[in-house]
Amino acid sequence: MTLKFYNTLTRKKQVFKPLKSKQVGIYSCGPTVYNYAHIGNLRTYIFNDLLKKSLEFLGYKVTHVMNITDVDDKTITASKKQGVSLKKFTREYEKIFFNDLKSLNIKKPTHIPRATESIKDMIKLIQVLLKKGYAYKSDDGIYFSIKKFKSYGKLAKLQKIKKSKSRIANDSYDKENAKDFALWKFHTQEDGDNFWKAGFGKGRPGWHIECSAMSMKKLGETFDIHTGASDLIFPHHTNEIAQSQAATGKQFVKYWLHAGFLTMKQGKMSKSLGNILRLKDLRQKGFSALDYRYLTLTTHYREQLRFSLENLNASKIALQRLKNIILTIKNDKKINNKYLAQFTEALKDDLNTPKALAILWKLVRDPDAEGKLKAIKKIDEIFSLDLLKNEKTKIPQKIKKLVDERERARKNKDWKTADSIREKINEFGFQVDDTGRGAKISKK
Ligand code: AMP
Ligand code: ZN
Repeated sequence: MTLKFYNTLTRKKQVFKPLKSKQVGIYSCGPTVYNYAHIGNLRTYIFNDLLKKSLEFLGYKVTHVMNITDVDDKTITASKKQGVSLKKFTREYEKIFFNDLKSLNIKKPTHIPRATESIKDMIKLIQVLLKKGYAYKSDDGIYFSIKKFKSYGKLAKLQKIKKSKSRIANDSYDKENAKDFALWKFHTQEDGDNFWKAGFGKGRPGWHIECSAMSMKKLGETFDIHTGASDLIFPHHTNEIAQSQAATGKQFVKYWLHAGFLTMKQGKMSKSLGNILRLKDLRQKGFSALDYRYLTLTTHYREQLRFSLENLNASKIALQRLKNIILTIKNDKKINNKYLAQFTEALKDDLNTPKALAILWKLVRDPDAEGKLKAIKKIDEIFSLDLLKNEKTKIPQKIKKLVDERERARKNKDWKTADSIREKINEFGFQVDDTGRGAKISKK
């Protein structure tokens, strides 16, 4: 099978043909660093990582760019509330974000431009748009005129856009509000020190122009793949297309890949609904980042993933079981190309990870298969679940003591005490198994 991706632009699964054979440029909208990333955000970053690693696995050289939005409405408001400078405030959340990526085994993108360090490129782009007549100056900023850009809204399949003369300064708004949007916001008192000088007036960029400028700077005026979750189709990605194509006269992006939401009972996980969970919260409940990564693989990236602690727990158990089986497999120095081919086919079909995961399970459980370990190693280059890592869990002293006590109780045939100690050990997140060679302790 040839590699296929579902392209939001055409609403079809399409054969993937990069601009340069065997080289791919990907741009992913990065975090707005004004708060912790929640596990919904992180689902999208895991998807980006799977996409990149799958392309590398298939032999492409990938240049992956992900921006950091460290200036916009939200970051300015939040830093002011805390009374710290925008830089200090955003750098702190940036650090936490990269720690989260690390624990999820997400590989760092090739380039990670910060918005505040790319202002010159944004100003240049706005100047081109002004010169070409797509942008105009108003009393509070520079705006993009959506009526000037004929195919405005194609990505979002906006039907008839009222060619009203109204404008919107906010970075976020809904579909009913397709209006001229701010490219540059003139300095106001609320912005404090957060402004840059520009020929058309001092101020700060709008969120949408940031991504147009940073992506084209690193990947060129036309590039292969742009990603984000589906909430970004409108207005963010719609506006990115308008700004970029109006400025260059060329197609901006060939394939738009959008990930589905992580949802909770109340709907999409989002900071505004207040139904968020962070990796930190999952850890407190006894789950690892990789338990969560496993869970995300069980659903296709475009589907909604309904989160619950029950399905996270099922993933934790499945991952542990998988690793336990792998521990018993001997390295015969061969590689199982049959299963690897099936795995590759699943990935080529718009990154069908649930199917690819099922193939991995089939491989580990196949009693006749040879070359298992080497094939699993290849698969884990993409899944990144540390399948072959045999972590030597540090057993705390208090757990060791409990295990000894339990052994004594067992020797005295005091089964009741032995069982209650086992329960205690479980409560501390450890598990004790009785083997022919004595008690074996492992992390649950
Ligand atoms: P933000 O930091 O809010 O700009 O969002 C970072 C990324 O997370 C963007 O690609 C969003 O589209 C994505 N995102 C936001 N909420 C969710 C969610 N509930 N599920 C999956 N992705 C999300
Ligand atoms: Zn973006």
